[in-house]
Amino acid sequence: MLKVNQVTKTYGDLKANDNVSIEIEENSVALLVGPNGAGKSTLLKCIMGLLRYTGEIEIRGQRNKSTEAKRIMGYVPEIPHMYPLLTIAEHLEFTARAYKLDDSWSEKADFLLERFELADKKDKLGGTLSKGMQQKLSICVALLPEPDFILFDEPLIGLDPYAIKQLKNIFRELAEKGHSLLISTHILDTVDQLWDQVFIMDHGKVVANGKKAELDQLGKTLEDFFFDVTDQQRGVVLTETELAAAANSQQMSEPNQQSEK
Ligand code: ATP
Repeated sequence: MLKVNQVTKTYGDLKANDNVSIEIEENSVALLVGPNGAGKSTLLKCIMGLLRYTGEIEIRGQRNKSTEAKRIMGYVPEIPHMYPLLTIAEHLEFTARAYKLDDSWSEKADFLLERFELADKKDKLGGTLSKGMQQKLSICVALLPEPDFILFDEPLIGLDPYAIKQLKNIFRELAEKGHSLLISTHILDTVDQLWDQVFIMDHGKVVANGKKAELDQLGKTLEDFFFDVTDQQRGVVLTETELAAAANSQQMSEPNQQSEK
């Protein structure tokens, strides 16, 4: 579904993404985790074609900036961008028109608004929405065209517990229907046991990746794996038992890029 090949994005002297290469299979749920400033949002923006970078990115074999690729991608950004003078209903209508959706869009839109408790707020203007309402609308707008591949950047932030539950259910439903997801998150149980693959970023690089099936075999949780890898990056002194566990994790992870140092 996704092939990122040697992507580097610089801001002045800073390499926000440093020679990143990742691949995500069709029908899979991938997590992108890592400390603040690791480069996760930058990578999602590069994949969406919103930034200039070096390297190649393909979505189902098509260049990410092509119309064909854009048609099958959806994106929930970290910070929602609403049109201040469009109502909630108009945001959805605008999306339906832009994607040339068939007439059933309005029924789907109503269902999404219902799930996120926005149905009675359809006439509210974008500029008057609370942070959480903007986040919910941003999710509804991304889901309306039912894209095959959806990127979520910190999707749970700002949502109330009811909306978090809805979104977690939606992740499950999307996965069951065969959509592919790439979710950047600090909340390691965002998708509970649903994920297939995890990429850990630090200082602009993918420093480890692992498959859930492999972790399960080692009796490790995502949290174990995350701390094994990130503690090593930070030079944390581990006990002997922890070191043995970390060695196992490191064997599993195959950083697919070379340092440019
Ligand atoms: P967080 O978990 O805190 O959201 P992140 O992993 O998503 O972090 P990015 O937002 O991708 O990290 O940022 C990666 C690096 O790039 C950081 O050092 C950040 O300060 C820098 N950066 C991001 N956007 C810009 C920008 N527009 N101009 C300059 N530097 C930027």
